[in-house]
Amino acid sequence: AGAASSPLLKNLNPEQLAAVTAAPEPALILAGAGSGKTRVLTTRIAWLLQTGQVSPGGVMAVTFTNKAAKEMLTRLSTMLPFNVRGMWIGTFHGLCNRFLRAHWKLAHLPQAFQILDASDTTSAVKRVIKAMKLDEERFVPKQVGWFIAGCKEDGLRPGDVEVRDDQTKKLVEIYANYEDQCQREGVVDFAELMLRSYELLRDNPAVREHYQNRFRHILVDEFQDTNKLQYAWLKMFAPPPGRAADSDGSGRGTGQSLLAVGDDDQSIYAFRGARVGNMIDFEREYRVKKVIKLEQNYRSFGHILDAANELISRNSQRLGKTLRTDAGQGDPIRVQEAPSDFAEAQWLIEEVQQLHRGGLDRKEIAVLYRSNAQSRVIESALFNSGIPYRVYGGLRFFERAEVKHALAYLRLLENPNDDTSFLRVVNFPTRGIGAKTLENLQDAAKATGRSLYQSVGAIAGKGGANLLAFTNLIDSTRNLTQGMTLREIIEQVLETSGLLDFYRTDKDGAERLENLDELINAAEAFVMQEGFGKNAVGLPVDEVAPGLQTAGTPGAVPDAETGEIMSPLVAFLTHASLEAGDNQAQAGQDAVQLMTVHSAKGLEFDAVFITGLEEGLFPHENAMSDHDGLEEERRLMYVAITRARKKLSLSFCQTRMLHGQTRYHIKSRFFDELPEEALKWLTPRNQGFGSGFAREYQNAWDRGSGLKGMVGAGNVAKPAWVEPPVPASMKPKVSEEHGGLRVGKGVFHTKFGEGVLLTLEGAGADARAQVNFGRHGTKWLALSVAKLTPID
Ligand code: ATP
Ligand code: MG
Repeated sequence: AGAASSPLLKNLNPEQLAAVTAAPEPALILAGAGSGKTRVLTTRIAWLLQTGQVSPGGVMAVTFTNKAAKEMLTRLSTMLPFNVRGMWIGTFHGLCNRFLRAHWKLAHLPQAFQILDASDTTSAVKRVIKAMKLDEERFVPKQVGWFIAGCKEDGLRPGDVEVRDDQTKKLVEIYANYEDQCQREGVVDFAELMLRSYELLRDNPAVREHYQNRFRHILVDEFQDTNKLQYAWLKMFAPPPGRAADSDGSGRGTGQSLLAVGDDDQSIYAFRGARVGNMIDFEREYRVKKVIKLEQNYRSFGHILDAANELISRNSQRLGKTLRTDAGQGDPIRVQEAPSDFAEAQWLIEEVQQLHRGGLDRKEIAVLYRSNAQSRVIESALFNSGIPYRVYGGLRFFERAEVKHALAYLRLLENPNDDTSFLRVVNFPTRGIGAKTLENLQDAAKATGRSLYQSVGAIAGKGGANLLAFTNLIDSTRNLTQGMTLREIIEQVLETSGLLDFYRTDKDGAERLENLDELINAAEAFVMQEGFGKNAVGLPVDEVAPGLQTAGTPGAVPDAETGEIMSPLVAFLTHASLEAGDNQAQAGQDAVQLMTVHSAKGLEFDAVFITGLEEGLFPHENAMSDHDGLEEERRLMYVAITRARKKLSLSFCQTRMLHGQTRYHIKSRFFDELPEEALKWLTPRNQGFGSGFAREYQNAWDRGSGLKGMVGAGNVAKPAWVEPPVPASMKPKVSEEHGGLRVGKGVFHTKFGEGVLLTLEGAGADARAQVNFGRHGTKWLALSVAKLTPID
C-alpha cells in the first residue's frame, strides 16, 4: 500500500506529514503547545506499524505521566487493529520497572522487588539516620533523600561522589547505608529504578546490543523535561553515531531512529534536574540534520493562544518559536475575583454546572491549581453539589496518613470500641506497645467478644500498663474536650495525642503539620456550612458561600424526638468518611478533572479553570525571589493556559485559609502579563465585599511601599491596618437570651437531664443552643424541637 495514501495521514499539515513519514534517522521536533507534537509522535508509530516498517515489539515510546502514557495508548488503539497494551509505551519509571522485572537476576534484585514511593523513601532514609545515631537536625531525612536522589540522577554511586567536606562525607555514608538497607529489604526507590536499569545496560554489552537491535524506533515525548540520567539511559538504547558504543564501530550509528519531541517553553521540572540543554545536546550528538518546527496550533482559540504567547514572551531564556491559529478568537478569557477561597469554589461550581448544562461533558472540564493543598476546598464544594469529580496525583485529603491518624483519635473519643481506629493509633506515636502485647490483647478481646478498648484490663505486665495509659489518655481527652467547639476539640486531640509533637520533631513532618492544619480548616468550614456555630472569619456561612449548604447532610437535621443535632464531631467524622469514600468518581465516569498544573502537561480540555492566581501561590513563593524560578513559574502558567481548547477562566481570592489562618492575598503578577483585550473581568475591579482592603493592599503594592517585602515573602497574615470590614448585617447572630434561657445558666432536657447552656444562636425556627450535659456530653439542640426548660 502506498504510504502517502494511508488514511492515517489525511489530517496532517505538510510539516507534520514530513515528520510522520521521515526516514528512519534521529530527528528533533521543537514546537509550541498544541501544535500536534504528540499527534505526530503517535501517528508515526501507527504509520510505521501499518506500513510494516517495524513490528510492535520494535517500538519504544516514552512519556512523562501515567495519564499521558495512557492517552497515547488510547490514541494508538483507535488507529490500529490490534491490542497495543503489550507495546513498550510508558513512562520512564514504568519502562524501567518493566525492564528490571525482566532482568531481575542481572539487576541483583529479588524477582518481587517492591518500589518505595516518596514518603516510604523518606522513612527508609530516616531509619538509616537513626541507626547511625546521627542528628536529624543536621541530617534532615527528606533533604538527605533529595541528596541521594540527586546523586542517583547524576549517575553517582556512593563511591563516585566527590567528598569535599565532613558534611558530604557523612551524607555519602548515609547514602551507602541506605543502599545496603534497600538491598537487604529488596526495595528500590524511583531514582534507583532509572539508575539500576541504566547500569545494567552499561555493564552488559550483550543485553545492550539485544535491545539496540530490538528497538528500531524510539520516540520520546516531552523531551524538554528529561534529566541527565534519563538522557543517558536513552543513549544506552540508541547510541549516537560516532561513539565507541556503536555496535559496529563504524561511526554510522546503529541505524536506529530516535525521535525527540519537545517544547522548551514547557520545561517545568528544572527544580528536579530536568535539562532543556538535552535538546541542544541531542541535536548535536545525533547530528540532527534539520530541526522540525510546527507552527500551527490546532488546540486553542485565538484569545487563549494570544494570552499564552504574550505571557511567555516575557521570558528571556527561550529557543524561539512561533504559534498561530486559524481558529477564530473564541470567547474571551473570564477572570473572577473572589472574596475567599470558598467563594472561588462556589463560583467554580456555578460555572461548571452552566458549562455542563450547555452540553459540555464533565470530563472536558479541568480545574487546575499550583499546589495540591488547594484542592480540598474545591473538592468539598464539588462534593456538596453532587458533581462527580476525579483528582489526579496526590492522595485525597482525608486519605493522608496523618489525617487518618488524627481522625482515628477523634473517633475513639466518640467510640472507644472502634477497633480499627484503636489499632491505628494505639502505638502511634510510639508508647512502647509491641506487636506481642497487641496480639495478646486481640486474643483476649476475641475470647470475651469485647472490644480491644474493653479488654485492656486483661493484659498484665509492662505492656498492659502501657495499654492502660493509652485508654486513660483517650478517656481524659474525652473529659477535657467536653463543651469545646469542634476546632478546639481537634486542636486538643492533636496536642494530647502527641501527634503534633511527633510531627514537630519529625524533621520531615512540616508538610504533615500543614495537613493537620488543613484538617482544622476543614472542620471549621464544615461547622460553618452546617451552621453549628461561629466561624473563623466571624461570618455565617450563608453570607460567605450560599451554595455550600446542603440539606440532609449529617448533623443538619435534628432528631425528631429529642431535638438533638448530631454533635459537630460525629457529623464531621461522618462527613470525613463519606468524602474519603464513595464520592470519587470511577475512572471512565463523566467527572470533572482536578489536578495540579504539573500533572496537566500534555493534556487538553474544552474548558479549563486556573484557580488561585495569587502572588505567593502562583507564582509560588519559593520561586518568586529569583529570575530562573520566576521564568519556570511563567512556563508553568504557559502550560496551564495552553491546556484549554475553547474556554479558559482564571480566578483569584482576596482571602484564603492557609495553614489554619485566614490570609490576605493580592492577584498574581501574571494578570499584568496577559493582553487586556483577551480578558473579560467578571467582577468589576475594586468592588464587592472586601474590596476595600484588597484595593488598599493593591495600592500599597503598586506604590512599592514597605509591604512589598512582606508580600514578596509570601502571604501576609492579618496586617493590623487592614482588618476586613465586616458589614454589621453579616455578624453572627449570637444572643444571650432565648425564651427564658440564659447562657451560663442551667437547663433541663427530658432525655439528657440537667446541663449548662454554653451558646445560643440564630432566631425563630433557626434558634440553636449548645448545652453541656456532663455525662451525656455537649450537644447542639434545635430549640424549635428540643424542650429545654431553664433551672436556677
Ligand atoms: P503539547 O505541547 O501541549 O503537548 P502537542 O504539540 O503535543 O501539545 P497535540 O496534543 O498533539 O499537541 O495536538 C493538539 C490538538 O490538535 C489535538 O487535539 C490534536 O488532535 C489536534 N491536531 C494536531 N494536528 C492537527 C491537524 N493537522 N489537524 C487537526 N487537528 C490537529
Ligand atoms: Mg504533547
